[in-house]
Amino acid sequence: RMYKSRTICRSDIDSFEAPFLAIYESLIPPEEEKAQQKQLLTLLEKLVSKEWPNARLYLYGSCANSFGVSKSDIDVCLAIEETDMDKSDIVLKLANILQSDNLQNVQALTRARVPIVKLKDPVTGISCDICINNLLAVVNTKLLRDYAQIDSRLRQLAFIIKHWAKSRGVNETYQGTLSSYAYVLMCIHFLQHRRPAILPCLQEMETTYSVTVEDIECSYFDQVEKLRDFGYYNKENIAQLVWGFFSYWAYRHDYANAVISVRTGSIISKQEKDWTRRIGNDRHLICIEDPFETRHDLGRVVDKYSIKVLREEFERAAEIMQYDPNPCVKLFEPY
Ligand code: ATP
Ligand code: MG
Repeated sequence: RMYKSRTICRSDIDSFEAPFLAIYESLIPPEEEKAQQKQLLTLLEKLVSKEWPNARLYLYGSCANSFGVSKSDIDVCLAIEETDMDKSDIVLKLANILQSDNLQNVQALTRARVPIVKLKDPVTGISCDICINNLLAVVNTKLLRDYAQIDSRLRQLAFIIKHWAKSRGVNETYQGTLSSYAYVLMCIHFLQHRRPAILPCLQEMETTYSVTVEDIECSYFDQVEKLRDFGYYNKENIAQLVWGFFSYWAYRHDYANAVISVRTGSIISKQEKDWTRRIGNDRHLICIEDPFETRHDLGRVVDKYSIKVLREEFERAAEIMQYDPNPCVKLFEPY
């Protein structure tokens, strides 16, 4: 039974395509919500440009990378050249600027690891975090959005995986499990590895987009409208892909040696990255290379306790996908 579950998919797997697609569709944010987010951004831009005419605001994270489900908070980055102020001073000043009749609960969190301003729009209830000069996040947001445009199965898979991770309590970096960003990278990597491949490796292709941020050169092929047929020869549907994703992370990933790398579109070794030992709090128990900050392992938040939790959840999900009569319900049952 165990052997079988590692290799061959159940014969009725295709009957779950429609229910998985229905779940995906129920998670997509309605147009109205997108419009409200834009309105809030416009208000913020107006308030900021009065004080700092050269500053710019960028949306990043799930509100801009196309992997945001309905009712997500929005992530905003203030890009500003203020050489004489550190980030916590900027955050304090920004909170003052934004304190207006139209906004509620504007808070400056100056002592957080990443200083931010938090606020809430009282009309729509949208919450927003504003960070300062985190332009790498803006660039990796674009990379994710570009990948999503190549094949619709990426967005479907990532929504299902994020929904599963939130339902099962394994999307909490402060508890040692993985960020949404890490799960999306896992999905991209998985689709780069299907045979035939469903996604290409954009960073290995001709450069059509290039920016240098914090001394890191970020370049890749971003003319994704030319790649719309890329996954044509692979006919797998969302149910098969969810099954394959969990069976990979439950039974086939080499946790001892392997690093998944969207940047190279392949698996590289921990040895090569020098991620074989614990250094400080970085233990490298599950290794996901950031596509641009390549020294950065998105699995570094995972500790010896939470790795067990994660792997048990992957195994539970794989078993459900293989044997459960009703996987589209069972997978998302609260823990
Ligand atoms: P959610 O829908 O759960 O809010 P999200 O896509 O906004 O998902 P977060 O994990 O909240 O994901 O991260 C927001 C953004 O911040 C990511 O899209 C990414 O651009 C950036 N980011 C998050 N974690 C990291 C990290 N460890 N290294 C680099 N960038 C990160
Ligand atoms: Mg977010």
